[in-house]
Amino acid sequence: MQRLGRQVADAVAGHLASLRDQRVLTNGLPTATRQRIAAPPDETPVSFDHLLQTLQTDVFSYSARESHPRFMAYVPGCPSFPAVMGDWLATGYNFFAGVWPVAEGPNALELAVLEWFRQWIGMPAGTGGLLTNGGSGATLTAIIAARHAAVGDDASRLARLTLYASDQAHSAALRAAWIAGVPRDQVRVLPSDADYRLRASDVRRAIARDRAAGLIPLAVVVSAGTTNTGAVDPLDEIADVCTAEGTWLHADAAYGGFAALTERGARMLSGLGRCDSVALDPHKWLFVPFECGSLLVREPERLRAAFHVLPDYLRDVAAGQDAVNFADYGEQLTRQSRALKVWLGVKYFGLAAIRGEIDRAIDHAAYAEHLVRSQPLLEVMSPAQLGVLCFRVHPAGMDDGPALDAFNERVNAAMSADGRYLISSTRLRGAFTLRLCILGFRTTAADVEGLIRTVVEVARQAGA
Ligand SMILES: *Cc1c(COP(=O)(O)O)cnc(C)c1O
Repeated sequence: MQRLGRQVADAVAGHLASLRDQRVLTNGLPTATRQRIAAPPDETPVSFDHLLQTLQTDVFSYSARESHPRFMAYVPGCPSFPAVMGDWLATGYNFFAGVWPVAEGPNALELAVLEWFRQWIGMPAGTGGLLTNGGSGATLTAIIAARHAAVGDDASRLARLTLYASDQAHSAALRAAWIAGVPRDQVRVLPSDADYRLRASDVRRAIARDRAAGLIPLAVVVSAGTTNTGAVDPLDEIADVCTAEGTWLHADAAYGGFAALTERGARMLSGLGRCDSVALDPHKWLFVPFECGSLLVREPERLRAAFHVLPDYLRDVAAGQDAVNFADYGEQLTRQSRALKVWLGVKYFGLAAIRGEIDRAIDHAAYAEHLVRSQPLLEVMSPAQLGVLCFRVHPAGMDDGPALDAFNERVNAAMSADGRYLISSTRLRGAFTLRLCILGFRTTAADVEGLIRTVVEVARQAGA
């Protein structure tokens, strides 16, 4: 194990050290390679050296380098090395973090990191929750708890449930509503305002209309940092509506939540503490490897009410006072100790370093916006917010419409094929837009300059 472990550590360290010399994304897995890796296992063993070599050449090469300094697409994943070590420790020791009595230490560590998160986003004492596979799992868990609070065991009322979110809400919220049994045409996707934010007045009106029609408002989902533009819904105003209506308020802070560690982020996210539940993704802006999401619930008893079940074969591990069986808080029984990677990653560097990296990423996106504004060929589609910027190439004389969209689609595809930088795209009010998201701690101002220069270069080659 020591020899193999050293080989693996060397492989990963070598990979990370050489990221700058690598493409950001390699596609085109050859059919022959695919057939080779799909070959059934032999009866006889194969040397680890050979297997590791095969993985590196035939498997790992065909992927995006998520932690690459020039990966500015989607939401980058950029774990710190101590956090990676935490993951390795969790799997090496193979703790069972589903029930308290068999892993008191790791479970206490999970409660500890959840308590950090609670304080960072200003939720009240007594808040509870759990670490999850990601923001999707966290959101689903919250919606199931909200459903239990709204209709209990009365399945006949499921068909009357409604959920409210803006047209900028993440697909995870819609999917959670569907899985929870909310009829698809009763998921109210409300049009966002000019700044891509949900309007509190729209929420109030939609709830009133639905109640008058005999429907049951299940939850309002607010975004605290949308994936599209980084927009933050007016949390306080919507919290007022939900308090008045007695409706569960869930905040999707999967992307933006940890920005609360910074001064300006804390200002933008100040209403988070009032929500009934909040989803935050450590595997995004807390520099923890995939998979690590989290859910905080103001009244953890509501979580337990929805999920607790004690079969006979688990009576030995029923949790007592001051103890939590995380299996009672979500759908997972066997679960790894995700707390280890969070704890190690945060403690090793200290909060100042993490806060500094989040701040720097926000600055980089703002710098990108400045560069876009000073380049006549480019146009800002949505200003830099929480590390996200939407922009497009706008050649003189080309009007808004399908031709301009198609041109930008070509630029986006050419950028991916070029391989030096990776950005992605989205649509805002129907218009195709390029989108960059900066999160990783390896990205420098020079990378941002290089990206904008390359977009212009690629656009000129495409005929701009
Ligand atoms: C990433 C993201 C999600 C989904 O979280 P996963 O960790 O990918 O499951 C939900 N909402 C927002 C705003 C996100 O950025």
